[in-house]
Amino acid sequence: MIILLKHKVREADQRQLLHYIESQGEIIHKEEKLLVLREDIPEPDILYRYKAVAKVITRQSSCTLVCAGNSKPEIVIRGNTIGHGDLTIIAGPCTIDDTGRLRETAHALSEEGIKFMRGGVQKLRTSPYSYSGAGLKALETFASIAKELELITVSEVISPEWIVPMTEHIDILQVGTRNMYNYPLLKALGKAGRPVILKRAVSATYKEWLLAAEHLAVAGNREIILCERGIRTFETSLRNTPDIAAIPVMKERSCLPIIFDPSHATGDRRFVLPLSYAAVAAGVDGLLLEVEINPQSAPVDGGQTINIEELRRIMRKLPSLIVQ
Ligand code: PEP
Ligand code: MN
Repeated sequence: MIILLKHKVREADQRQLLHYIESQGEIIHKEEKLLVLREDIPEPDILYRYKAVAKVITRQSSCTLVCAGNSKPEIVIRGNTIGHGDLTIIAGPCTIDDTGRLRETAHALSEEGIKFMRGGVQKLRTSPYSYSGAGLKALETFASIAKELELITVSEVISPEWIVPMTEHIDILQVGTRNMYNYPLLKALGKAGRPVILKRAVSATYKEWLLAAEHLAVAGNREIILCERGIRTFETSLRNTPDIAAIPVMKERSCLPIIFDPSHATGDRRFVLPLSYAAVAAGVDGLLLEVEINPQSAPVDGGQTINIEELRRIMRKLPSLIVQ
């Protein structure tokens, strides 16, 4: 159960409320304007008699920590805000392999005005025989090239033991689709001190996705960015089925920014442009795009990776599609 407090609360009113709550249940998380109780108290409506209370969210409410309107997170990295009306473009290779190509891609992205660069260093692959990244070496190379160009870095963290090296080098940590249900990982990321991009699992309902975000929030991390990356449906001719509806729905049901990944959502570079347009017109806060100077050389996901020219084409039209 969650209790949101009013913005202006007299100390005596807050004390009175705390006294009552502590007699009714166990507080498991406490912030300036928010309390989380392990269980719902027997008569939650009684809480509205206390002057300090703004809103009570019970198990039955459709709302949770991540949709508590007055706790909208501010995600700002070196002056760049995610959400709150800005359109964030995150671009870069699926997986980092060759340093020369990474450097050239980073320079080209920076020249296009891209501020956020993605790059996988350790991948979760469906087949154990597929290339799964160069690990720590790629992480260090990525971080040093990004630093030279003042790019903000985004990379996937595949397991709790990777959190420490990743936070040393990476600005935004990504939870991949295969890990959305990995609650120990989400819990550990609650204390990582980095914003987290939470990708939707291939078959996750909106509720399961929001509850995964809730795991991060309860563990202490409110800098959460949802990412729609396509879901699994009966349609098998594309890698996944893009769920554009998730964009307005998640904006309605949560206070979190949401970005869209047309590369994994379609698996085909020919559809990255139209789906990017659709997502922006639907009100998305950002795009996560697989981009390389030479997609043909990409060791992973080359078929869905666009080149710089295609990126430029997409970016040209985006400002006219943004809905205010
Ligand atoms: C990725 O973005 O690198 C990735 C592996 O995506 P997903 O987890 O959505 O498959
Ligand atoms: Mn990929």
